[in-house]
Amino acid sequence: MRRNTNFENSMESLASSLSLTGKVAIVTGAARGIGRAVAEAFIAADAQHIVCADILEDTLAEIETSDRLSTALLDVTDESNWQSVVETTIARHGQIDILVNNAGILAYGKVEDTEPAEFRRVMEVNVTGVFLGMRAVIPHMKANRRGVIINSSSTSGIVPNNFISAYGASKFAVRGLTRSAALELGLHGIRVNSIHPGGINTPMTNPTGEKHEDLAELMPWVPIQRYGKADEVAKGVLFLASDAASYCMGTELQIDGGMTAGTYFPGMPGSPENP
Ligand code: NAD
Repeated sequence: MRRNTNFENSMESLASSLSLTGKVAIVTGAARGIGRAVAEAFIAADAQHIVCADILEDTLAEIETSDRLSTALLDVTDESNWQSVVETTIARHGQIDILVNNAGILAYGKVEDTEPAEFRRVMEVNVTGVFLGMRAVIPHMKANRRGVIINSSSTSGIVPNNFISAYGASKFAVRGLTRSAALELGLHGIRVNSIHPGGINTPMTNPTGEKHEDLAELMPWVPIQRYGKADEVAKGVLFLASDAASYCMGTELQIDGGMTAGTYFPGMPGSPENP
């Protein structure tokens, strides 16, 4: 049989391309939710070390640390916090290969009802936080001529939603910032991509901890007909972080059960009302 040279020993090489062996990562907003799941996926993929950074000191304290996982108190809006986390990570672990800018906040409200201070806060955490994170690691990654940055946008950064205009504006900004950075940093061996989760069952969307199955009725217009789970997003982040995504640059990975695939004509054949 003729060998496929692109996929020699295919399963083995595919699996090893998803491995993070020898890689050091910082994941923001990793005390809970998607960030926590990303840290767990990176550990499962054999990463050398993960720094779980978050503003939630008490929740961070509950995380079991090891020689492969540590926690760091970080407010992503604070430049000096970033400097300290980056310097400490390099001092202790020698390098930073991956930054996942996952921390984010959600705010509800119609445009005219959103307080300016709240709008600014959402932009500060979701956009300035991502900017400061990239700014803090870029010189180090450039010096190493390698690195991966993954920024958390949202389906709301692709298709706007009512009642979360500040959040949506911030996630459109993250998408744009990611693409600008991809243009600039690809030249230096640094891959920059964004993820766009749909409705994912985390403390952000489900603060009262409703049963996962009970959330499905909130999603009738989503082709997959259910909420996603944090680990389903984490697998996408792992892909982008790994060498399996070696040609992904400025990629916008939707992990959304089809939420942004299009819109249904209500009641027409093929719609949820008339499957
Ligand atoms: P979450 O609220 O469970 O987790 C967010 C984490 O970010 C928390 O641990 C929080 O403490 C941390 N954080 C908030 N402000 C911070 C700050 N200033 N500095 C450092 N950390 C801070 O939410 P999640 O659902 O896990 O969301 C993670 C990311 O995914 C967010 O950027 C969110 O916008 C995005 N996202 C979530 C969904 C969803 O449906 N859950 C959908 C699309 C995008």
